[in-house]
Amino acid sequence: MAADLPEPANDLDELVRDLLAEPAYAQTRRHPRKTQPDEVIPILEDLYAAHDQAARHLPVLAEKMGHSIACFKGCSECCNELVAVTHGEAHTIARWLLEPAQDALRARFLPRARAWVDATGASATRALDHLEVGNQETYLRLRKEHALQRLMCPVNEEGACTFYPVRPLICRLPYIVDTSEHCAPRPEGGAQAQQISFPAYEQFADRARQLLSGLQGALGREPRERLPLARAVLEALDALTPADVVVDSDSDEA
Ligand code: SF4
Repeated sequence: MAADLPEPANDLDELVRDLLAEPAYAQTRRHPRKTQPDEVIPILEDLYAAHDQAARHLPVLAEKMGHSIACFKGCSECCNELVAVTHGEAHTIARWLLEPAQDALRARFLPRARAWVDATGASATRALDHLEVGNQETYLRLRKEHALQRLMCPVNEEGACTFYPVRPLICRLPYIVDTSEHCAPRPEGGAQAQQISFPAYEQFADRARQLLSGLQGALGREPRERLPLARAVLEALDALTPADVVVDSDSDEA
């Protein structure tokens, strides 16, 4: 699998090469390198850039297959889904949110994120616990129940993603073709939203997920562990913020 990867220039490149070469690092095995959360940030920046480059060609590919991409800014239907992230992704977002340029956004996000966590209780985390142990059927059922609650992601403002430059991989991958009419979950079932299906893109997505899981292990965590976005970012902010620095705002602008 690693045959097409360039020779590593440093030990972070070597880590990436190892994680992509050995699928077990995305399952139960943990890479022995003691990696710090900040070291994951440039790896994710490269991954996101590679994805965005690949995704630029999807509209043309869809057209060649007789379809069109139905996703557009302002749709946000998939932002009602349970968005699951790794610790590295949450840390990357938290670092970005702590930049002075994001002060106002952070003040709006914090109360919305806490409200989202309060509203979902433990159910979102419980759904992801089933994902972690490979209990796919229960996970999918609980994920659908979550989507039916239509709890908009606390990052979304007026149909737009406010974390767009650092949004997690799961928010970059899905591309729905032809119509978004079937994106909303229905309790009685019905037509499924049709995602673009292109082997090279799917292979990229699989390898990207493998890398994310492997990085979890390199951070000393369970490779398949995922957390709801709001909870994960709140925890990452807490971990980064000294007790004497106030990151909240009393004024809820949301
Ligand atoms: S992070 Fe952004 S793209 Fe992802 S669900 Fe939230 S608002 Fe939507």
